[in-house]
Amino acid sequence: TETELALRRGIEADELVLEYQPIVDLATSRVDGAEALVRWRRPDFGLVGPNDFIHIAERSSLIIELDRWVLERCCERLAGWRDRDALSPIRLAVNISGRHLMEGDLVADVAAALERTGADPSMLEIELTETHLLGDLDLAVETLRALRDRGVRISIDDFGTGYSAMNHLRHLPIDSIKIDRSFIVAARVSDADAAVVDAVLAIGRSHGLEVVAEGIETAEDLEFVRGRGCDRGQGYYISYPLPIESAEALMFSTLAMQHA
Ligand code: C2E
Ligand code: MG
Ligand code: MG
Repeated sequence: TETELALRRGIEADELVLEYQPIVDLATSRVDGAEALVRWRRPDFGLVGPNDFIHIAERSSLIIELDRWVLERCCERLAGWRDRDALSPIRLAVNISGRHLMEGDLVADVAAALERTGADPSMLEIELTETHLLGDLDLAVETLRALRDRGVRISIDDFGTGYSAMNHLRHLPIDSIKIDRSFIVAARVSDADAAVVDAVLAIGRSHGLEVVAEGIETAEDLEFVRGRGCDRGQGYYISYPLPIESAEALMFSTLAMQHA
């Protein structure tokens, strides 16, 4: 399609841009990392969000090229953070499409980006959604294990929304789960939904996983997820996705987040 073609050219023409959304350690309020989120500065269209083009890229192997571009850019940035990390650990999370996991060579692509840039693998986190992992559980387990053997962290994004990975968690070599923001939204108004958050936390705990709450939009949300014992938090109340330099300023300042 036209958009697909334009995107293919856009990747080559460096029309993609990344923003970083800060993530806080809820116990200390320190910004201890960020998630890289892609945007497309499409000529004549302005800044286009990922919800308007990732699904188009996912129709073909174009998504693998897009993911590789993001991986490379993020690892370049991470390489520059090596010295700063000596003070306190900091991580950058990259979203990877299920198609890349299933049809591409994700392990080789990650290894290439790390080697070419000299980034520290332990500062890189790969986010995947559960539906993708469960499509071919054996392949997923093998791939995740290979990534973790290299020192990269694995996180399950939008946890609870897909074909649930709940039953398979003990087979999956992962480090953390991100509770989808729909549960945080629902927990504001319903005790039953608040109980879902507790259940996810209990499951995460019993598997030794870090639990991250997404979509923190108000002071009440923040108090709620902190009170329930989530480890880390992310959302508009803490910070919007920011230009990279602004996010870095927050990550590397010694001050804790004002709101968090
Ligand atoms: P995601 O990985 O779950 O990313 C979180 C999305 O929630 C981001 O939207 C972020 O801006 C938004 N968000 C953060 N805090 C809040 C909040 O408090 N309230 C609300 N309502 N939203 C919040 P964004 O940037 O539009 O990204 C949408 C999705 O596009 C991502 O969901 C991810 O699945 C995909 N995506 C983004 N960047 C990439 C990428 O580089 N590669 C791939 N393969 N997918 C990407
Ligand atoms: Mg994500
Ligand atoms: Mg998410």
